[in-house]
Amino acid sequence: MTAKREKGRRPVITGSVIKRAAAFLLLAALVTACGCTQSGPLVREFFAMDTYMRFSVYGLTDASAAEGAADAVVRLSGLLDATDSRSEVYALNHGGGRPVPVSPETYGVIEGSLALSRELGDSFELTVRPLLTAWGFTKGEHRIPADAELAALIENVDDGRIGLDAERNTVTLPEGMQIDLGAVAKGYAADEAARILREGGAEAALLDLGSSTIFAFGTKPDGTRWRIAVKDPENADGVAGVIETDGGAVSTSGGYERYFTGPDGRVYWHIIDPRTGRPARTGILSVTVLTEDAATGDALSTALFVMGPQAAEEYYREAGGFEYIMLMEDGSVLLTPGAQGVFTLSGSRAGAEVRVVGSGADG
Ligand code: AMP
Ligand code: MG
Repeated sequence: MTAKREKGRRPVITGSVIKRAAAFLLLAALVTACGCTQSGPLVREFFAMDTYMRFSVYGLTDASAAEGAADAVVRLSGLLDATDSRSEVYALNHGGGRPVPVSPETYGVIEGSLALSRELGDSFELTVRPLLTAWGFTKGEHRIPADAELAALIENVDDGRIGLDAERNTVTLPEGMQIDLGAVAKGYAADEAARILREGGAEAALLDLGSSTIFAFGTKPDGTRWRIAVKDPENADGVAGVIETDGGAVSTSGGYERYFTGPDGRVYWHIIDPRTGRPARTGILSVTVLTEDAATGDALSTALFVMGPQAAEEYYREAGGFEYIMLMEDGSVLLTPGAQGVFTLSGSRAGAEVRVVGSGADG
């Protein structure tokens, strides 16, 4: 995603960027105003969670459900963004070890994310935030922390020590602990948007929350399946393949989304292995996960990226209920059996060596 990548490289706001943003907003306003045609979808484009989002919705008689869905995503973005001092997660991260009351939405996301965190084990920790800060990913001031600094910070990475009080809707983080919902927020937002659209009468929709989180439901009027591109992690504008699906969530995690190159010439990215405190390097360039719901898919894609190919395959055999596509540093592609049936390689990876993994799993 361009927005994120530019953020990672410390953007310079130029006149042309401002002009492009203005043109985008004008286009979005026009599309929103007249996007409701008989055959085509109603299209709603907006900026949230650091990226451009695009909802294409079929079967609505007016735009209110699409507006409601977009508003809900913008609202979640405001509640959950740990870097925004007006957000609830910011308040929680600065609660000084005391219980902090939060809205039912924020409480629900944290409760659900902690359940996913327990399920996914030590590859996935919401409390990874102090490590992200140490590497400079939260402010874009990138640096390589010393081993001792990382070792000290890891002491405060443990989702099991987060306190939840469902009666009072409070969350308690021990002093020194901070959470970051970057690995799951878009997934929750996609599920919430889909719920609002369905309740509002939408028959089908493709929700693109910045290409790393995509959710589709229903059948398009022309009866064709949804086609979702998987990005080439080595070429921002390129496509590595296409997924054809009847619906569900497609979530991608990749080092290419936010990274910096250190003085040592190595690339350091934003997905951190909580056990080492360092960017997870397991030979994976990106992992795309297919699930029924987007929150689970979002958490899973981040966790599988950290686990690496072997542990991910073991987890797939044990847990099941999802499929994945892994684009590897060595050029090869790993596919689970269910992904093999819906994914076609194209572009730069067209002739890549493909390995089917995890066959014989229950899921
Ligand atoms: P995603 O693009 O969904 O893989 O999410 C990446 C984001 O999740 C990062 O920018 C961090 O905010 C956060 N994150 C990084 N590493 C982890 C981890 N091991 N567990 C949970 N969240 C993480
Ligand atoms: Mg994720």
